[in-house]
Amino acid sequence: MPPAWKGINIIYKRHGFLLRGNYAFIYWVGSLKGLLHGYFKIEIILLLLLLLYFMGCEQKPAELQEFSREKFIMNTLVHITVFCADEHQGAKALDEAFNAFEKVNDLTDRFKNQGKTTSLVSEVSKINNNAGISPVRVSDDTLTILERSNYFSELSGGAFDVSIGPIMDLWGFGSNQHVPGQEEINKALALVDYSKIKIDDDQNTVFLTKPGMCLDLGGVSKGYATDYAVSALRKLGINHAIINAGGNVYALGTKPDGSLWRVGIQDPRDDGIIAIVSVQDVAVVTSGDYERYFTQGGGRYHHILDPATGGQARDAIQVTIVGDSATEADILSTTLFVLGPEKGFNMVNKLKNNDVVFVCPDKQILYSNTISNNLTFTAEGGYQPVAK
Ligand code: ADP
Ligand code: MG
Repeated sequence: MPPAWKGINIIYKRHGFLLRGNYAFIYWVGSLKGLLHGYFKIEIILLLLLLLYFMGCEQKPAELQEFSREKFIMNTLVHITVFCADEHQGAKALDEAFNAFEKVNDLTDRFKNQGKTTSLVSEVSKINNNAGISPVRVSDDTLTILERSNYFSELSGGAFDVSIGPIMDLWGFGSNQHVPGQEEINKALALVDYSKIKIDDDQNTVFLTKPGMCLDLGGVSKGYATDYAVSALRKLGINHAIINAGGNVYALGTKPDGSLWRVGIQDPRDDGIIAIVSVQDVAVVTSGDYERYFTQGGGRYHHILDPATGGQARDAIQVTIVGDSATEADILSTTLFVLGPEKGFNMVNKLKNNDVVFVCPDKQILYSNTISNNLTFTAEGGYQPVAK
């Protein structure tokens, strides 16, 4: 990547743009070159132009225009681009897509916990405030997120656990970050247990059975919001769009010219990209140890924690999941980061429609064989790709 592009979010180029997110680059470059080449005689071109003129414009499909918006939601920069016929439709599509993010954030943000009116307290905060006290009635969306999360907790032997809140608080990322003592960790770990999240499907209630338990949906909510936004866009008839919510990417349809979206996987230790996946109608979600972290005494402490130890998961430095559901891909990117490559491949191979690209501390890139045809490596950064 040319150095001049670094740190810039969107760069418009002659035939396209490059969009830069926290973890991923997305770009498309449409070219009209091919169209302009040809061997038509000037007479034929003139004849065609005349024909077009007399046929009028009614039969010509409306040209798609590009509309983009960026907003800071869910602690991350969300960038959405849609392609549609006119400005009115573009604005409506973007409004609804961002509403989806706002809505999911309002339900799940555990720090939305202030004020006297209930609308200022998220459902997740209500559940947390009532830990060990009583079940809390919640929306279908919150219930679905928690059921999906618990399903993968079960499947991963607890590597993914949304009751990680008390341990996250101990490390205090962004606010009071420091390495906690082992005794504190052990105490907090006693409160981390997904099997103590009691979900009642009939009553639509959730109950944390131990006082002090605390849900943190940071590993799944952006994925769920992405799916929500995608479904809103589809309902509006949008056939080409791309969403990037801080590394949670969804490529809706193809690019307007019919070719695949090209999603870049960021170098976890440097600027630039290490690989490009070419996709349509899938989520590409990346978890890395470089987004939220601090250093202390020469050690690097990041935000993806192993519920078995209460400390950092260290078998991977970045995990990308390519799959149909952004919710699932978000959960899996965090889960596989904790599990590491060996157990991670074991798990993902059992699931249909999910591919994985692991970047390990030794600079190996281990990737699912099934994605080989849609994955290219840039040879940047000295990584060694190995198909699994
Ligand atoms: P990001 O939020 O940066 O996109 P992830 O999707 O990997 O990254 O989610 C990391 C977040 O998930 C943490 O900030 C925390 O809120 C939560 N989390 C950390 N460890 C776990 C875990 N083992 N299980 C479930 N959630 C976790
Ligand atoms: Mg995740």
